[in-house]
Amino acid sequence: MSSINYESIVQKDAAYVMQTYGRQPIVLDSGKGALVYDINGVEYIDCVAGIAVNNVGHCHPRVVEAIKSQAEKLIHVSNLYYTEVQANLAEELVKLTGMERAFFCNSGAEAVEAAMKLARVTTGKTEFIAAERSFHGRTMGSLSVTYKEMYRAPFKPLVQKEIFVPYDNAAAMEEAINENTAAIIIEPIQGEGGIHVPSDDYLKEVRHICDEHEILLIFDEVQTGFGRTGKWFCKDHFGIQPDIMCMAKAMGGGVPMGGIVSKKGITFTKSQHASTFGGNPLACAAALGSIAAIKEERLLEHTTEVGKYFMDKLREADISGLKEVRGRGLMIGLEMERNCIEIVDYARKNGVLLNNTSETVIRIAPPLVITKEQVDRVVEVIEQA
Ligand SMILES: *Cc1c(COP(=O)(O)O)cnc(C)c1O
Repeated sequence: MSSINYESIVQKDAAYVMQTYGRQPIVLDSGKGALVYDINGVEYIDCVAGIAVNNVGHCHPRVVEAIKSQAEKLIHVSNLYYTEVQANLAEELVKLTGMERAFFCNSGAEAVEAAMKLARVTTGKTEFIAAERSFHGRTMGSLSVTYKEMYRAPFKPLVQKEIFVPYDNAAAMEEAINENTAAIIIEPIQGEGGIHVPSDDYLKEVRHICDEHEILLIFDEVQTGFGRTGKWFCKDHFGIQPDIMCMAKAMGGGVPMGGIVSKKGITFTKSQHASTFGGNPLACAAALGSIAAIKEERLLEHTTEVGKYFMDKLREADISGLKEVRGRGLMIGLEMERNCIEIVDYARKNGVLLNNTSETVIRIAPPLVITKEQVDRVVEVIEQA
C-alpha cells in the first residue's frame, strides 16, 4: 500500500511538476521537533530543517497554535489596510535587530530584491559588489549578485555586470568600489557557498570601508537569522550594524515569509515598493509564534551549547576523508576529501537527513531544538558512512 503510494507520488511529480529539483527518494509526511517521518512511518533525524527554516522544530505547538487561531480570525487582507499582527511583528523585529523599520515580503530572494531597490533609491547609484561563493537568490536582481555561473549564465543579461570579489578579504572589497557602487551585499556566514565563517575583523572592516566611501552595507541574514548561529542574527557575533538586513527562511516558523529591516534615514516612501502578500496576517502570526518559541525555549543558549557539542563530536569522531569542520551555532559544514553524496545517501538509509551544498561539503542545519542524544546518533551515522 505505502510503496504503491510512494511510486504513484513520484510518478505524479514526474508527470506534472517542472523538474527543477533533484529530490531525495523519500516522501515526507509528518514531523515533530527535530524528527520527520515518511509515508511508511520511517523516522529521520532532520539535519536539513527545510534548509535552515524549521529553527523551532517541526510543528512547534506555539507556531501551530498561532496559525490556527489566526486562520480562524483572518487569513489575508492586503496592505490596503492595517492589521495588528503586522504592526506587532515590525515592532518585535526592530527591537530584536536594533534597526529602525521593516518591510515585509515572502521569501529570501524577494528580501534581497527589496534591499537592492532600497539601496538604489537611497543612493541614486546602481551597482552592487558581492562576494565569491555568495548565494542571494534566483530572481533577476538577486541572481545578479549570486556567484555561481551555472545559475546565472542562461538568464543574461541580468541587472548588472558581474562584480564578485574574494570573501573574507576587505581590501578586495574596497578595490572594487567605483562611482556607481550603491552597496556591498554580503552573508555574515556564507551558507549555500559551503558554510564559510569570516575572520573576526572582516565585517568590521567592510563596515568601515562602506562608511568611508559612503556606500551602503547590506547583510543577507536569510540563512543565518533567527537563532541559527546562537544569536538572534549573525551580525550580533561581530557587533556591527548593516544599513539594510535581509531575512526570510526561519522567519515564519515554516510559513513562507521574508523581510528587510533598515537603519534610520533609509526607508522606502509611498509607492516605492509593495507586495500583495507581504506581511500577511497568517505569516505574521506564525512569525510571532516562532519568535516567542525561540525565547521561551531559550533556543539561543541551547543552540550555542549544542552547536559546540556537535562540532566537538564531529572533530573527535573517526570520519574518513574529513578535512574540516566549520560553522557557528547549528550552522555547520563538513568539508570532505571525497564525494559526500554517498554519505548523504547512507545517512538517509540510516535515519538521518543531510544535505550537501557541493560535492565536497555537507551542511548540517538541524532544528535548533535538536538534543545531544540526537546529535550523538547523527555523528555515529556519519562515522559509519
Ligand atoms: C536561501 C537564501 C536566499 C534565497 O531565499 P529564497 O527564499 O529561496 O528565495 C537568499 N539568501 C541567502 C543567504 C539564502 O540562504
